[in-house]
Amino acid sequence: MKVKIAASVKDCAAWAHNAAVIDVLRSSTTVSALLSANKKNIILYGDKNLAAAAKRKNPALEIFSELEFPADIKHKDNSPFTALNSKPSPQAAVVTTAGTPAVMTLKKTKNIFMGGFCNFAALAAHLKKLDEPVLLVPSNIIAHKEHLEDDLCAQSLKRALTGGAPDCAAAVKKIKQSARFKKFLTEGPSTAAQDAKICLTENSLPLIPQIKLNGNSGVINAAPLRKAVILFSGGMDSTVCLYWAMAQGYECHTLTISYGQKHLKEVAVARALAEKAGAETHFIKLDMPWLAGATSLVGGKKIPSQNLKEIGRKLPSTYVPARNLLFVSLAASLADSIGAEAIVLGPNAVDFSGYPDCTPQFYAPLARALKKGTRLGKNFKLLTPLIKLSKAEIIKLGRALNAPLEKTWSCYNGGKTPCGKCDACKLRAEGFRQADKEK
Ligand code: ZN
Repeated sequence: MKVKIAASVKDCAAWAHNAAVIDVLRSSTTVSALLSANKKNIILYGDKNLAAAAKRKNPALEIFSELEFPADIKHKDNSPFTALNSKPSPQAAVVTTAGTPAVMTLKKTKNIFMGGFCNFAALAAHLKKLDEPVLLVPSNIIAHKEHLEDDLCAQSLKRALTGGAPDCAAAVKKIKQSARFKKFLTEGPSTAAQDAKICLTENSLPLIPQIKLNGNSGVINAAPLRKAVILFSGGMDSTVCLYWAMAQGYECHTLTISYGQKHLKEVAVARALAEKAGAETHFIKLDMPWLAGATSLVGGKKIPSQNLKEIGRKLPSTYVPARNLLFVSLAASLADSIGAEAIVLGPNAVDFSGYPDCTPQFYAPLARALKKGTRLGKNFKLLTPLIKLSKAEIIKLGRALNAPLEKTWSCYNGGKTPCGKCDACKLRAEGFRQADKEK
């Protein structure tokens, strides 16, 4: 993968792929510490006047900064140690002269993360998985050139991403011997020794702050990297869902479920597609012998072939009793276990076979039930991005997201090639016809 270390603001302003901002001592580490302390959403300011104004409006706001503030603005030091020992509420703001301005230069960047030695392994693993060009931004290109710890961390991270030995230990040793570090210990905050330990210990805070620029206001939000569970069959719709979730910035965990379907081929396709997309994959197998008598997708019954016009008029034998209720429940168990904030799945109520568990009426109450009956909580989202799209619109969305549609499998019959006769084949073929016509 292509990894570049930014040398100037110009490099940052032009960068359209992913980026990681590195401000080892201290803002990368302070932000990671605040997120570890369960602060949900942290505000970053590069301008202390904006932070002071926010504090006057909301006196509960906790400001973490090494800068001088007017006497009426109480604040804590920009100390990872203090941050780590703070309470989940109230909201926190981090005000810095290098870390935040470095983030603000990344106006065109797709995903922005923050990191240092404290989250080195987690960040390296995530960037590797995304497998896209990445710009590493040592914050000392903005201010304090002498902060060599940012350069050294960026170089280690670059080695980790390009297959070399990252050798953080050597980098940390060099930092500890530097005049800059000795000055930090003697002239830095009263917590300097504890802060240095958190900042320079590899993986002391193994989470990834994800940064969102808030327009041009100079206000930036940092939150932990968000996870989503994607119900993933390897079909076209769930593949579009996976690429859609990736574009929303989610770390994607796919869940693929075998329930005895004839088209088991889709499981192999699902594995290949999910791995190609860099998702974490999960596979489970259900044993539900009663399905053989209840749906033609399982067992020996023939899968019907209908005219395009007939599809959706009458519930076909391919309906699997309560399949999506079951699948969403299993996805909720996974989401609750790994701390995912969303489940994404691809039911569609436009060009579909009329399955009752593919309608918006089904998903709205299900989302409410999951918020109440799990640890997912009120911010949990059950996302069905395709539900109101036509097949042609789904195809166009998939193409816009660069999803490998041609590699997906839709056919209900598990043959070598798609049968061309089942509902899934017909809806897919018609979708491509329409999408190509409207090109
Ligand atoms: Zn087919």
